[in-house]
Amino acid sequence: IVQNEDIIAKIQEMISTNKVLVFSKTTCPFCTKVKDLFKSLNVQYELLELDTADNGSALQNALFEISGQKTVPNVFINGKHLGGCDDTLKAHAENRLLTLINEEVAPAYDYDLIVIGGGSGGLAAAKEAAILGKKVALFDFVKPSPQGTSWGLGGTCVNVGCIPKKLMHRAAVLGEEFQDSKAFGWDIPEQIKHNWSTMKDAIQDHIGSLNWAYRVDLRDKRVDYINGYAEFINNHRIKATKRNNTTVEMTAEHFIIATGERPRYPDIPGAKEFSITSDDLFSLPYCPGKTLCVGASYVSLECAGFLAGLGLDVTVMIEQIEAGTPGRYKVTAKTTEGETIEGEYNTILIAIGRDPCTSGIGLETVGVQLNPKTGRVVCNDQDQTSTAHIYAIGDIVEGRPQLTPVAIQAGRLLARRLYTSSTILCDYQNVATTVFTPIEYGAIGYSEEDAVKAFGENNIEVFHSFYKPLEWTVPHREENACYAKLICNKADNERVIGFHVVGPNAGEMTQGYAVAMRRRATKEDFDSTIGIHPTCSETFTTLSVTKRSGVTPDVSGC
Ligand code: FAD
Repeated sequence: IVQNEDIIAKIQEMISTNKVLVFSKTTCPFCTKVKDLFKSLNVQYELLELDTADNGSALQNALFEISGQKTVPNVFINGKHLGGCDDTLKAHAENRLLTLINEEVAPAYDYDLIVIGGGSGGLAAAKEAAILGKKVALFDFVKPSPQGTSWGLGGTCVNVGCIPKKLMHRAAVLGEEFQDSKAFGWDIPEQIKHNWSTMKDAIQDHIGSLNWAYRVDLRDKRVDYINGYAEFINNHRIKATKRNNTTVEMTAEHFIIATGERPRYPDIPGAKEFSITSDDLFSLPYCPGKTLCVGASYVSLECAGFLAGLGLDVTVMIEQIEAGTPGRYKVTAKTTEGETIEGEYNTILIAIGRDPCTSGIGLETVGVQLNPKTGRVVCNDQDQTSTAHIYAIGDIVEGRPQLTPVAIQAGRLLARRLYTSSTILCDYQNVATTVFTPIEYGAIGYSEEDAVKAFGENNIEVFHSFYKPLEWTVPHREENACYAKLICNKADNERVIGFHVVGPNAGEMTQGYAVAMRRRATKEDFDSTIGIHPTCSETFTTLSVTKRSGVTPDVSGC
């Protein structure tokens, strides 16, 4: 792919730097006709003979991606695709050819593309468009959290999401593994201690190196990066406010909005003052101590998992008892049964959902339609908003899975659709995902409940089993803590439409099965696949107990 991208970039550069450019083959009579025509008109042209070039067929494939034309000659004038032999002769017959060549092309806008948001989606789209020869600017700006935390280029995933979360998850899993290691003969002291600052500094150092790498990558790809908060002031113009309060204005033909989301706060006295969110946790300068995680979102569960904290789905009242880092707070909560609970905590982590960053960026000025309930941008399957030249990708778009690889894929494919002949859409179905709780949870496709709703109970067969990783036997960990489930559509040859696994390394396991499910694997495909022994994943090749049968799925034997 990189090779292909390099070739496309080279061709785009030739197209933008030559007034008349002809891709030809030495033996092609149609090419000879076009070359003769330009010679007779005294027109200087740049020529690339594909049949004598080292990588001619790769060039021809790349040309097809750019222009949608497979044949030669392939003619470009003033940066625009004219066509083949017939198109060139026709333009000449209609007296348009020389006008096209002699036209002075002043760019209508400062940029071909402006991207607002330098996270997973925005960076991917900006870089891809630049590779395709477009003039691109990218704006990224992080408004500090109520606790004053802010961060560098790269968006949520890199700074306050996937990356620090997975590394802290690793820290927690390592702690458990130290305990297990005693049973395997390692002489570990009874009390092992964890140092929050060492972990936090190491993770933040890694994030710092990623922030730097993103800046360098944008510079190398000639994307203009502006650290400023952007808002639309009219259809093709934005204003950006920089950190020192100076402003710049710029215009572009196309825009991509990829502004992501930020944590939501509950409307509770003390919430913004005394609590933190995932935006603050990963760079917290002190160990959070006894922590209350509010909310049952995956962010809350993951943070609770690595902090070994509490998760309560309740209304919360927060009161400061003692200031400090960490301080002491009293939390009063009401359970759904009406019982009042009170507790003291050093840290309260709010993780009750995230809101899209779609206000305060002038979307109303340019007529971009939002879902009034969620505030997310409404897009068609081309990622196009209700305003034709403005597109949106990533977490802010209504109905899309809110995951980094989804935003990246959407960004890259959108840039290719905008600036090549590609028509490939991002496939938002069957996107695999994992919740990185200490025992991970991986999922692809339908949940059991949604499958029953979509296909009817009689058409759904659910195969399931608890399992125990072999590594857990020696340290005598619990029996029925890991679980495997396949949901099959009986009406479609028992095609697997839902995959669920709870266990160590579920993320690593789930990724491979996502490929199988994209290829429409059936239960028979899973059954006839020979397992790798002894692994957890082999459980999926031997699932025989259906939920309908009522037979126990408990662990039995090896
Ligand atoms: P973002 O990455 O959020 O980037 C948006 C950027 O735009 C930000 O830098 C923002 O400051 C900037 N911005 C906003 N408004 C403006 C403006 N007006 N002008 C300029 N800049 C602006 N996904 C996974 O796939 N796997 C995981 O394990 C995972 N873990 C996560 C853990 C946590 C704690 C969280 C919060 C998220 C996690 N995610 C995970 C989700 C993932 O981070 C997001 O889906 C992804 O970052 C979305 O990318 P995006 O491009 O839409 O937005």
